Amino acid sequence: MLNEYAYCPRLAYLEWVQNEFADNYFTEDGRFAHRRVDVEQGDVNQTTDDDAPRVVRSSMLSAPQAGFIARIDLIEVTGEVAVPVDYKRSSKPNTPNGAYDPERVQLCVQGIILRENGFTCDHGIIYFAGSKDRVEVTFDDALITQTQSLATQLRKMGEQGHIPPPLNDSPKCEGCSLVSICLPDELVLLSKQQQQQDSNEPRRLMPARDDALPVYVQEQGAYVTKSGDLLIIKKGSQKLAECKLFETSQLSLLGNIQVSTQALHELVSRNIPVGYFSSGGWFYGMTIGLPHKNIELRIHQHRVAANQKQSLLLACRFVSTKIRNCRTMLRRNADNITELILNQLKELSQQAYECESAESLLGIEGTAARLYFEIFPNMIKRNEIDGDFTFTGRNRRPPRDPVNALLSLAYSLLTKDLTIIITMAGLDPYLGFYHRPRYGRPSLALDLMEEFRPIIADSTVIAAINTGVITSEDFTYAGGAVALNKGARKSFMQAYERRMDQLIRHPVFGYQISYRRILDVQTRLLGRYLSGEINAYPEFITR
Ligand code: SF4
Repeated sequence: MLNEYAYCPRLAYLEWVQNEFADNYFTEDGRFAHRRVDVEQGDVNQTTDDDAPRVVRSSMLSAPQAGFIARIDLIEVTGEVAVPVDYKRSSKPNTPNGAYDPERVQLCVQGIILRENGFTCDHGIIYFAGSKDRVEVTFDDALITQTQSLATQLRKMGEQGHIPPPLNDSPKCEGCSLVSICLPDELVLLSKQQQQQDSNEPRRLMPARDDALPVYVQEQGAYVTKSGDLLIIKKGSQKLAECKLFETSQLSLLGNIQVSTQALHELVSRNIPVGYFSSGGWFYGMTIGLPHKNIELRIHQHRVAANQKQSLLLACRFVSTKIRNCRTMLRRNADNITELILNQLKELSQQAYECESAESLLGIEGTAARLYFEIFPNMIKRNEIDGDFTFTGRNRRPPRDPVNALLSLAYSLLTKDLTIIITMAGLDPYLGFYHRPRYGRPSLALDLMEEFRPIIADSTVIAAINTGVITSEDFTYAGGAVALNKGARKSFMQAYERRMDQLIRHPVFGYQISYRRILDVQTRLLGRYLSGEINAYPEFITR
């Protein structure tokens, strides 16, 4: 961890105190470079009859007096003399010392540990796998003092419990695996905006889209199992599909689908959540591994939720933004929209922003929703061809017309995605600020969803109808309830995933990013607000 602290104190805090971890190309590649030395071999304390050189691999050693513990990649031992060897995936850097400071400090810790274990150890080796170079590092007084001083600072940081600020415009962030959790440039921009200082547009340091995608299984009676690195979906002896585990971001099961224990173990160990839906698409639960270890974040969440004033402030932002985004949705897509309606929605959004009680906020949201859904049919163009998409208002549980059936399914998918994202970010999805806690209700997911309902869910519904992806033939009617049939549900889910994958320009940060990633960024920013790193939650307002 001293290596990380020397690289960036915030990185050490995120990993050590908040238990955050994420892989990127460099960490994966580093693991590959370590594959031989990561297998334990030999005992450094083993006594031998002669002083013949020997090699010990992947040895965990501690030095209680110095307060260090480390796994040492390789130790070359000759009698009482030990030389630690640290493997790096990269090539030897062009620096005066032949290695970067964090690497030298990390090696020096190993030297101090070996000394406390009774060995003579005055130097170590860094082996750069990329260029096959061995660089010798002498453990002189200057390096030992630097190492001990950094260790003292690291311990103090942990005790104080304050996350260090992000690095400002640092090239280090480009190679940092935690960049999408840390959001360095975004936080610097937001705090400069809050202090009304000029700032550059942030770099987009995270990928615009996710490499892995959700997998949905809706064939009733299907069975999901695992073979090697593949998920196999079968029905009886017939294989229906297979997908690579590393390309799977989540597994969603609709209705009566079984999963083998082996598949569940693999999914859980790879942090791939499994979402459970009714066969009609109602989201009712998920399986994940152990809860996120960042308890600090959940403590902040509970503190803010217990504070009525702060909760209301957040609730006002969620509702106000939702109304603004509904207005934009109508302005872009509805026929015959009048200035009067647009002005009313603008006024309601402003009222929500400044609202002083939760009860009034509910009233404002209700009025805005009524207005929005009154005009909603003006966005449906297909009625001219296919008159069965008549919409007279929102109804649910069960939905009683095709448009409401589509809206319910879209909201259910969005709730599932946000519940997963919130959980993976270390927040509690059941503790919201606008939606108050109710048994089994993912209130925080519903809160964060407000600003995205019109621009992700409603937009998917409107596009699916208007482009003929869904037609009036695609529904089944039973006992007053309306549901999509199986084939059409697949088409609709594909339309939803296409929307989530669509790149848009972030209104605050200016870079192109997919809706799916935006949900993650907004959730992380909410976490940064709750823990006091930024003064306000930056809403996602589309233009
Ligand atoms: S992204 Fe940059 S500031 Fe954030 S932890 Fe990594 S190196 Fe530090």
